Amino acid sequence: MPTRFRYLVTLTLCLVPAVAASQAPAVPSPVAWWPRVPVQGSLVHVVVRPSAGDSLTVVSGDLAGEPLHFERLTDGFHALGAVPFSAGDSAAAHLVVQRGGDADDTRLVALPVARRRVPRERLRVAPQYAEPPESLAERIRLEQEMVQEVRRRAHQTPRLWQAAFVRPSVGAVTSVFGVARVFNEVLRSRHWGVDFRARWGAPVRATNRGVVALVADLYYSGTTVLIDHGAGLVTGYFHLSRVLVSQGDTVDVGQVIGRVGATGRVTKPHLHWFAAYGEITVDPLDLVRSNGPARFTRGLPP
Ligand SMILES: [Zn+2]
Repeated sequence: MPTRFRYLVTLTLCLVPAVAASQAPAVPSPVAWWPRVPVQGSLVHVVVRPSAGDSLTVVSGDLAGEPLHFERLTDGFHALGAVPFSAGDSAAAHLVVQRGGDADDTRLVALPVARRRVPRERLRVAPQYAEPPESLAERIRLEQEMVQEVRRRAHQTPRLWQAAFVRPSVGAVTSVFGVARVFNEVLRSRHWGVDFRARWGAPVRATNRGVVALVADLYYSGTTVLIDHGAGLVTGYFHLSRVLVSQGDTVDVGQVIGRVGATGRVTKPHLHWFAAYGEITVDPLDLVRSNGPARFTRGLPP
């Protein structure tokens, strides 16, 4: 079946309220999202707008397995979510709409997902450098667990930002999100972030307000700062030479949190910027794109 046709079928089937979940409302509340067709590994802005005469009280749910944190804004319920890099041609959102007095209305919506096209980096190295030695496996596992914990906890933190997101560095982007790293003809890893060209010691800024959730020296990412922005969102700043904040500090948008360095598994100074919605790693540039999930990344109305 042609891909476009398949999307259409999925959407048509899934926009119908879940069978026997509850009494269907007379007029279903429209669900919308931006971008209309998100690419693999990107942020999505989901909105549920009450139709005329409909008095929604609570909207909750999840997208691709991660909880959504809906907030009532002037024109409906809004949430930031994400689709994983590993998504096929759609990602499932489960939405629960509650109305005063009525039974819950549960809905399954399939968001169409577009393939992310990324370059490949072919590297030829001596075999022992393609993989870290076995003696480091436990250290690397523990470090990954620490980072995962910060990402999970971000769902418990309320949204801490209000203003538009800013770039952490003024440097040019030298490596984009998702690049396939092929060592000796074998796909070993992907580039789970964005690299900025920057000289050693250049300032690194917090992309937005949040709490410093981790300051640590990690095997791959070197001196690392993770910021919990709340509502599921975490950003990371890797390979720093200096850190100017401490765990638990609240940082503001644009605040200098550290200095560019070359710590960890790198060959020269640069800033690696990382972003995640819960367990879903996303392209951090989505936060500063003019056509990104705008309501959340370009500043929220009061
Ligand atoms: Zn990088």
